[in-house]
Amino acid sequence: MVGTGIAGLWGAWRLATDGHDVLLVTKNTLADSSTAWAQGGIAVAMSTGDSPSQHAADTIAASGGLSDPAAVDVLVNEGPDRVRELLEMGAEFDRAPDGTLRYALEAAHSRPRILHADGDRIGAALVAALTRAIRRYPRIELRESTRVRRLIVQDGHVTGAVLVGADRTVDVVGAPAVLLATGGVGRLFEVTTNPPVATGDGWALAHLAGAELEHIEFLQFHPTALSLPGVNPAPLLTEALRGAGAWVVDGGGRRFTFDADPRGELAPRDIVARAVADRAAHGDAFLDARHVADVVGRFPGVAALLAPHHLSLEDSLIPIAPAMHYAMGGIRTELDGASTLPGLWAAGECAHTGAHGANRLASNSLLEGIVFADRAARDIAQSVAEARSTGPAVDTELRSDDVYDVHDADVELATMRRRMTADVGVLRTESGLAEAEHEFEMLCAQLPADAWRARDQLMIAGMIAARARSRRESRGGHSRSDFPNPRSVA
Ligand SMILES: Cc1cc2nc3c(=O)[nH]c(=O)nc-3n(C[C@H](O)[C@H](O)[C@H](O)COP(=O)(O)OP(=O)(O)OC[C@H]3O[C@@H](n4cnc5c(N)ncnc54)[C@H](O)[C@@H]3O)c2cc1C
Repeated sequence: MVGTGIAGLWGAWRLATDGHDVLLVTKNTLADSSTAWAQGGIAVAMSTGDSPSQHAADTIAASGGLSDPAAVDVLVNEGPDRVRELLEMGAEFDRAPDGTLRYALEAAHSRPRILHADGDRIGAALVAALTRAIRRYPRIELRESTRVRRLIVQDGHVTGAVLVGADRTVDVVGAPAVLLATGGVGRLFEVTTNPPVATGDGWALAHLAGAELEHIEFLQFHPTALSLPGVNPAPLLTEALRGAGAWVVDGGGRRFTFDADPRGELAPRDIVARAVADRAAHGDAFLDARHVADVVGRFPGVAALLAPHHLSLEDSLIPIAPAMHYAMGGIRTELDGASTLPGLWAAGECAHTGAHGANRLASNSLLEGIVFADRAARDIAQSVAEARSTGPAVDTELRSDDVYDVHDADVELATMRRRMTADVGVLRTESGLAEAEHEFEMLCAQLPADAWRARDQLMIAGMIAARARSRRESRGGHSRSDFPNPRSVA
């Protein structure tokens, strides 16, 4: 199991509850993940008057025509059971005074169905509950500061992985199944809401091993990240603020998102992001939450993020810009998490289940993490049981480049990130994408042999640019100014 975000923690827990030994590796500490940073909430159709079919309709409506109805069906129908398990595990969600769960409304959801925790600290609450749960199982061996360097493939089957520790020790581990839950790719961009660990490792590992990546050109840019010079990661001003009534305005106080869509601030993210990007380029986009009742009490996490910048939700117009936030595509999986490469499963943000299509509905990713990690764990358990007597041996030959990368490649990576935000970001063009691809190839060619981390990132950045270039249309999280309309057939 690779990664300790919601998908990795859930997958490890499920396998352990089914009596399996799990090696859970994570490249930094257990708490370093996008999951831990999640602010808004988890979407689930459990409130009175809501239903999985309404949740499915909203998910499909936001998806730019590319979601897989079967995956959406799994997400919305299995979500309630997984959330009930979270509750049994001890996850604390916000409740109304009468003790019932409180469901909030967010952009593009037709019903209040978002569970929050401690106001805007859902991620911390989920990580705390899942950490307590996995610690009850000695069958789960947790190795922090351990990075998966590459997957071992024998006869077309993943049979283990090469691990590199922070002390530069290299360990070859055999495994009847590997589940990648390595999260997103935000750190390939200069402006992102993602934590430092989100460097697209899972995509690189899977691609280099021979698994397919799908729809990686569809990236979601969060419309309301704090925009201050030199502040990156860009602190996120959660969607829930707009759900609670905060406005997106220009310097004159005009709510300009209504020019783009009648739903205004509650339109799908890609629409709001493009509208904000246009104004933010001239420093003329702001979030105004000054009129929202008890705004600091309801959003203590955001208030704390703003305080060091001398900004306040109660008194300030907050300067905003879109920031790379979430990857809709990824390692192509079946509904049971299996990738196209035998022995390899993927779940969470690094996977492409088809549930989001070209654009993710807000707060569906945490739900996707638990629903599909659960399925992957069950499928792994079954396949391991079937293969128990015939498990393939692991190649213990180390390659010379399996040693720890000592070349930081800071300059090359900074150049890549700038280019990604400028040319592979909210609005793309043929020439910008072609230049980006070319630059990434040149940067790669300049790297010394041992710079495998930077090479992997440049490879993935180049693949995103290439897929974006070949998709000559605009759809969901992929916008081309030279091809502004969707093609009739996706
Ligand atoms: C600021 C922010 C706010 C968000 N708010 C919400 C929200 O309110 N609701 C919602 O639904 N979604 C939200 N999202 C998105 C959501 O948090 C993520 O999509 C989700 O948490 C991803 O979970 P994951 O388990 O797939 O990956 P992550 O939580 O990112 O975890 C990935 C793990 O893999 C590890 N890893 C990566 N590469 C390697 C390697 N080579 N070797 C070993 N370990 C590795 C990392 O260290 C990390 O532990 C938010 C995201 C951000 C950044």
